[in-house]
Amino acid sequence: MNILIINAGSSSIKFQLMDVDSEETKIKGLVQRINQDNPEISWKIRKEKSKKKINIEDHRGGLKEVLDLLVDKENGVLESYDQIDAVGHRYVHGGEKFQDSTLIKDELMKDFEKLNHLAPLHNPNNLAGVRAIKELIPEVPNVAVFDTSFHSKLPPKAYVYPLPYELYEEKGIRRYGFHGTSHHYVSMEAADMINKPYEEAKIITCHMGNGISFSAIDGGHSVDTSLGFSTVCGIPMGTRSGDFDVGLVTHLIKSEGYSVDEVHEMIYKKSGLLGVSGISNDARDVEKAAWEEGNERAQLALDILHYKAKKYIGSYIAAMNGLDALVFTAGIGENGWESREAICKDMEYLGIKLDKEKNRVRGKKADVSKKNSPVRILAIPTNEELMIAKETKRVVNNL
Ligand code: AMP
Repeated sequence: MNILIINAGSSSIKFQLMDVDSEETKIKGLVQRINQDNPEISWKIRKEKSKKKINIEDHRGGLKEVLDLLVDKENGVLESYDQIDAVGHRYVHGGEKFQDSTLIKDELMKDFEKLNHLAPLHNPNNLAGVRAIKELIPEVPNVAVFDTSFHSKLPPKAYVYPLPYELYEEKGIRRYGFHGTSHHYVSMEAADMINKPYEEAKIITCHMGNGISFSAIDGGHSVDTSLGFSTVCGIPMGTRSGDFDVGLVTHLIKSEGYSVDEVHEMIYKKSGLLGVSGISNDARDVEKAAWEEGNERAQLALDILHYKAKKYIGSYIAAMNGLDALVFTAGIGENGWESREAICKDMEYLGIKLDKEKNRVRGKKADVSKKNSPVRILAIPTNEELMIAKETKRVVNNL
């Protein structure tokens, strides 16, 4: 079954055509600089990379280029659009309404529009992608796979904030969580690796990329997760602060003369690894500064990241009353064995015993725990596209 996977951002569209049954990627690529100068489309078929300049004005134009490329006589991988069985859209926010991947019927478009205010930087672009595909290939079913829906079974004690309850009731202000597709994918892989039925396993997934979120997964459901209503809380990230004393927000505005916009910019764009190190939002740059140049602030930025990560893991073990597998994924989690080692240090009391030798792998699926470790520690490359394709197939097959 051929699934076209679309991830439409503000100025770019990632695309991939996958045969979901064989898990073979036929083509993947990126449309860049939509609404900017010199837009281009780049793509990869097997190992061969190509790109070309294009003349487009919006997402519709970008997706038209993608579809034209798929059936292009010279470069294409399909004979006609009939060979696309469904389109799966990465959709950031499903709100409370969409608790599962959903077939995007025309009558639901209004409900999708109503979600825009929950993720104003993402959802409107996702929606533009859906609209364009519906116009360009109207016969093909579209499925939205939400970043939030894997967290839709959080218990109220995990998702209601200890704020006036009316904020939840009247404005939908609650923890939603993100990166659900990644948490879902790697936790299923983890259950497989430890040979335990998914419905019985207790798993913590540490998605550590530019954005970072951890999830506690009990019995196949996310029961707590570190991102919330916004994407700025939890563990410190490349430029986002993660949790800190919330009283500081009003202190900075009322007593230190910062504007609301300045504080917003500070906690989203100038904090985390970048804010503390003063060097970069990229973990590799910060590590280089700390380990090769002895930069103390860079080391402090890493120490804070690892310390907060460790504390979240401890709290999720407490929340679930146990743990079978601790999973590291995304850029830092998959590749940064040094971070895995730092986070798992001195966690024997909680049953987490890392094998330092086995742990020295980058970008590979591996069990990196000691033989006698009660908790299996796993590095698992995430594959959100494959998860979107599988979800799309599940929804379309249930029609
Ligand atoms: P992602 O958002 O999943 O692409 O992850 C991006 C983050 O992963 C950046 O902070 C990168 O510095 C980090 N990363 C990628 N490769 C490595 C590596 N080999 N060691 C440590 N961090 C890495």
